[in-house]
Amino acid sequence: MEKHTFNEGLLKFLQQSPTPFHATQCMLAALESAGFELLREEDTWELKAGRAYVVERNGSSIIAFTVGAGDPATTGLQMAGAHTDSPCLKLKPNPVMRVAGTLQFAVEVYGGALLAPWFDRDLSLAGRVEFRRKDGSLDSALLNWRRPVAMVPSLAIHLDREANQNRSINAQRDLPPVLALLDGRAKDFSFDEFVRQALADQCNIEDVDRLLGHELYLYDTQPPSLLGLHEEFIASARLDNLLSCYVGLQGMLATQAAGSSAGFSLLVCNDHEEVGSASACGAQGPFLRSVLTRLVAQLSGEGVDTAEAMERMIRRSLFLSVDNAHGVHPNFADKHDGNHGPQFNRGPVIKINANQRYATSSRSEALFRELCDRVAVPVQSFVVRSDMGCGSTIGPITATGLGVDTIDIGVPTWGMHSIRELAGSDDGWLLATAVREYFGR
Ligand SMILES: [Zn+2]
Repeated sequence: MEKHTFNEGLLKFLQQSPTPFHATQCMLAALESAGFELLREEDTWELKAGRAYVVERNGSSIIAFTVGAGDPATTGLQMAGAHTDSPCLKLKPNPVMRVAGTLQFAVEVYGGALLAPWFDRDLSLAGRVEFRRKDGSLDSALLNWRRPVAMVPSLAIHLDREANQNRSINAQRDLPPVLALLDGRAKDFSFDEFVRQALADQCNIEDVDRLLGHELYLYDTQPPSLLGLHEEFIASARLDNLLSCYVGLQGMLATQAAGSSAGFSLLVCNDHEEVGSASACGAQGPFLRSVLTRLVAQLSGEGVDTAEAMERMIRRSLFLSVDNAHGVHPNFADKHDGNHGPQFNRGPVIKINANQRYATSSRSEALFRELCDRVAVPVQSFVVRSDMGCGSTIGPITATGLGVDTIDIGVPTWGMHSIRELAGSDDGWLLATAVREYFGR
């Protein structure tokens, strides 16, 4: 795939995926239309060599895999993982606030968001709602208002002369966005009615008896863009970590195109990484192990000890934990170690941490460097300054849960966890080239 095509597809994916639910829906659609068969966890499975499958959990996490011709216990799996969620503002269960003649929505902060960039943006709403239909059945739907419906206005500098020196943000008081004026049509605003109307307008669902729950998030309506004098950069919300989801997705789609000659490859994209991964569909939960157990049980011959086959398979497998890294910021270059400052458009970054905040070992590093060499993809390395703390990823969590050799990699970015992040426009494509080679082995 050409870089231009890759970036166009990436921008479209970012735009279509304001929430983990939408990202999962997009990936499912792409995989199913490429011939991946949808499996339901509650059904029995009949896996066949040469076929490709996809399974989702909670509508926000997804595992896609291809079944090779051999025995997975003797071939192992090429696994890769990323996460579908990004820090943001989430509506509270009873969100309606009426303050100073305005209609506002109360919000919670999801994950470690950089809050200042959320002010003065044209925000929209998207997410999932649950409801009972008039015939008594329970159903759910994804909603996306698409157009700007809200803003969190800054306080003018005249009313806070210290704003540029020491403005802090109180998440309870400062973040509720404004949606309407109460002397206008919103006088009798009902949240229930607002959601019902959206279900009718967006999904043609008219027979709602009762709303039963919602997970709705605010997002920036500014579309992703290629930016810079020579379009060196990609600017978008949720580059962490939808960029890596897209890289993994493209790798899986390429594998499927290879047909039955492909071996065992697997992509997992988990929700809830930004809040610690401890959930039924998060990386600390049993989703991946459950799928692997069923795969081994299906494909091991009669009388084979599946527990042993599972351990043999994992010993022969590798897990690429794909998540963004911190590029050297020109205004804050001293925030990086002098010998480990990843730069944009110089290729994926191997992330290393002595304290296992990243799961990379010299062994997994060697395998990835060798892989990148084969396809002429340059590689950089990152280690945090010794006097600073370090972020983490699903890498150490998956390595701990499965005992699989793991490497943490990702493209360099600026402004991680801002409402708009920046990455190099070559790096995603370079990483995708390496991941395609990895899955194609
Ligand atoms: Zn991340």
